[in-house]
Amino acid sequence: ELAEVVSSLRDAGAQAGGYASELQTATASLDGGLDPSDFRAIVARLAATTRQMVAHNRQLEQRMEASSRQVEALQETLQQVRVEARTDGLTGLANRKSFDREIERRVNEETNLKSGLCLLMCDIDHFKKVNDTWGHAIGDQIIRFVASVLKHHAKGEFLAARYGGEEFALVIPATELAAARQLGASICHAVSAKKLMRKSTGESLGIVTVSVGVAQHRERESVRALIERADKCLYHAKRTGRNRVVTDADALSAAA
Ligand code: GH3
Ligand code: MG
Ligand code: MG
Repeated sequence: ELAEVVSSLRDAGAQAGGYASELQTATASLDGGLDPSDFRAIVARLAATTRQMVAHNRQLEQRMEASSRQVEALQETLQQVRVEARTDGLTGLANRKSFDREIERRVNEETNLKSGLCLLMCDIDHFKKVNDTWGHAIGDQIIRFVASVLKHHAKGEFLAARYGGEEFALVIPATELAAARQLGASICHAVSAKKLMRKSTGESLGIVTVSVGVAQHRERESVRALIERADKCLYHAKRTGRNRVVTDADALSAAA
């Protein structure tokens, strides 16, 4: 379509050139002094060519308009595709790819900050049993519910992501570990406080709980090492009873 417009523009250019030379020829003939019949013929020809030019220009204008609308539509589609590429389809949270890219960027930008960012990892407890008991569709519904709790806790520049199947990550910008811990506790509480229901029948599904691990980024620490520490905390929370938050500080004092 764009190629067509470019070629029409070229045609238009050529036509305008032809029109100009025709005018020149006409002017030259007029200079020579003419009898009225020659004069009429020249004017008639010029009028016809002018009409042709006008029609052609109008056509060109319409084509340009159509293709500029097309470019706009393409830009919109591109934007949608970009958003989709970084979004998890089930939950609407950032997907893993987007999380990986974004946490790397944020850790690298983190210089001279008083406190580092915190990484919160959150995993649904005994989720295999949920699937086995209620089926995959209900399992998906519960994943969406936990995601909505995370979304609700993600303010400002927070990044909430689906890290894997029933595991989520929350990147909390420049925050003290204690505050991040509190946020984790609030997430645990919000998840476990909700009485889940099968939408179609109103049947009670009981409750689900999550376990949370939190670590704060240390200077010059790699993203991989940070994730490993948060994961270790999460594992600790699982081992010590689930439905709880464990931070780096807790894990350290437990180990001592
Ligand atoms: P734990 O408390 O130790 O985390 O136990 P768990 O059963 O939650 O852990 P496990 O890793 O054994 O099981 C996770 C389950 O999550 C297994 C997998 O079938 C399920 N799962 C992963 N992704 C999805 C999903 O997109 N939808 C559903 N419905 N289930 C999923
Ligand atoms: Mg689990
Ligand atoms: Mg898991």
